[in-house]
Formats: sequence, structure tokens, C-alpha cells
Amino acid sequence: MEKISVIVPCYNEEKALPLFYEELNKNIKEFPKKATFEILFVNDGSKDNTLNVIKELAKTDNTIKYISFSRNFGKEAAIYAGLENSTGDYVTLMDADLQDPPALLKEMYSSVTDENYDAVGTRRINRKGEPIIRSFFAKLFYKLINKMTSFEMVDGARDYVFMKRNVVDSILSLKEYNRYSKGLFSFVGFDVKWIDYENITRIAGETKWSFWKLTKYALEGITAFSTTPLLISSAIGLLFCLISFLLILIIIFKTLILGDSTSGWPSLVCIIFMVSGIQMFCLGIIGQYLSKTYLEIKKRPLFFIKDTNIRK
Ligand code: UDP
Ligand code: MG
Repeated sequence: MEKISVIVPCYNEEKALPLFYEELNKNIKEFPKKATFEILFVNDGSKDNTLNVIKELAKTDNTIKYISFSRNFGKEAAIYAGLENSTGDYVTLMDADLQDPPALLKEMYSSVTDENYDAVGTRRINRKGEPIIRSFFAKLFYKLINKMTSFEMVDGARDYVFMKRNVVDSILSLKEYNRYSKGLFSFVGFDVKWIDYENITRIAGETKWSFWKLTKYALEGITAFSTTPLLISSAIGLLFCLISFLLILIIIFKTLILGDSTSGWPSLVCIIFMVSGIQMFCLGIIGQYLSKTYLEIKKRPLFFIKDTNIRK
């Protein structure tokens, strides 16, 4: 019998979890084909009652496994912990807030078993219920990153994916510290079927993503998968060398023909400001890569486990 592992990262989800479990369980019971399930909750250092809610659920259902972190390590770490500890032939990642409808599981499962896909990804076709400015920057981000990487990152792709074991193992073999799941999923390749659905708003609780956090996450995605910004900074440097060379020539000839003049100081100050600004900008780009390298090189574990019911 085939086993499906459902991995659910949870951070302060005490309100959403019971609703999520009820909905998931309904779908598991109605699952048309014979498959067993394993539900793996990863408590990412929640400050509310999430862990106790999970433990209560685990008492009534022995397919529930949980891992609880020593503090909040972020969703990426929770995903990694889940993948690493999953035992199913198939693995799926689901948010605890029911934004990833469990009703799609049947279709995802039959796509990999009957249609021979290696993985199924989900994509929301609209961004209903989201601030306009956030949608705008999200679109811009995907345009940018797709220009900079050699593989395609799908706009609107969610973390809700369904994978065969070999895809999971491939993702786990990417040992980087700065993890950007959507990119890793695209990076490993394989035959992926995309399922579209309308954006659903979260059932209870609040989103953990502020605009600032999202911006940082987007920059993370770019630096993790592309070194194009470094190329851009070199190009800007070269361009400014050329411009200054031309300016020097112009000034020499002007002085020879018209004689020396001391005009033009304000423009000089402007140029100094601009050029030093660009220098700082490019240094910043290099700094971004340096800081990522620094974090990689320390080889710190992605998370620490405080409590779990998984026995190895
Ligand atoms: N999450 C997590 N650790 C975090 C932030 C979020 O495990 O530091 C989980 C959260 O509990 C949820 C999922 O990641 O199950 C997605 O989070 P959220 O719904 O806040 O993100 P959004 O859907 O708004 O992008
Ligand atoms: Mg959500």
C-alpha cells in the first residue's frame, strides 16, 4: 500500500489547526484510491497553544506525527525538517490555514500515479484579497527573477506541491542554508504538472508575512539563484568609466579651445554624489552575496528539535 506524507508547517496556528485537521481528515476519508496517510506537523516555535493542539490531535489519531522546534526558525526550516522526517512514497506540503485546499489532493495523486508526472505544483490564478501594492511587487519580482535565472520560476506558484520520493530526495540533497523552496522546486526540474486555483483567504489567525519580510524573502530568492546583480554592478562600473573618459576628453578640448574656466562646480558635486551612491549600491550587492556566503560557510543546522513523537 502506498503512503502519502502531508507536511504542515505551523507557526501560531492554534485557531486554524483544528479546522485544518477536520477538513484534511474529511478528504482523507473520502480518498478514492487505497493509500495510507501520515500527517507531519512541524511546530516552528509557536508562541501560542499550537503544540498542545497538535498533541491533543495526536492522541486521537496515530497517523499524526509532530516535530517541535526549540524556537522559530522560519517556514523554510520547517519544510526541510518535514521532508527529512517524512516516510511516504509521496509527500505534499500544506499550509495550516486552509489556503491550500486538501480537496486538490485526489487530483494531485492521480496526476503522479496515472499520468506519470513526477510532481504537481499549484498556482493561484489571481491574487484576490491581497493588497494591490503587494501584487504589483510580486509580479515585478517574478519578471525580474525569470530574467536572471536559467530555469523558470512560475508566477503565483505556492508552496503547496505533491512530489514523488525521488523529487523529495533531490530537494533534500540541496544542502544550502539559505533555502528558498519555490526556487529549489523549480531548480531540481522533473516533469511537473501545474494545477491552477483561485486564491483563497486564510481561514483563521493572521498572516506571518509583513511587506518588509516579503521584500527580504524576494531578495533572498534572487541572490540564492542568480549572480546577475553582480554582473549588473560590474556593467554599471564599466559604463561610468566610459562616461568619465569621454568627459575628460571633452574638458581637455574645451580648456584648450576656450581657456580655463572655473564654472561647473555644482554639476561636479552632483556627479560626485551620484557616483558615490552607485558605488555604495554596488558594494551593497557584493555585500549581499558575501553575507550569504558567510552564512553558508558556518554550516549551522537549520533547526533544533525540542520535542517530537517520531521514533527512529
Ligand atoms: N509558517 C511557519 N513559520 C513561520 C511563518 C509561517 O511555519 O515563521 C507557516 C504558517 O504556520 C503557515 C504557512 O507557514 O502554515 C504559511 O504562512 P502564512 O499563511 O502566514 O503565509 P501566507 O499564506 O500569508 O503567504
Ligand atoms: Mg497563508
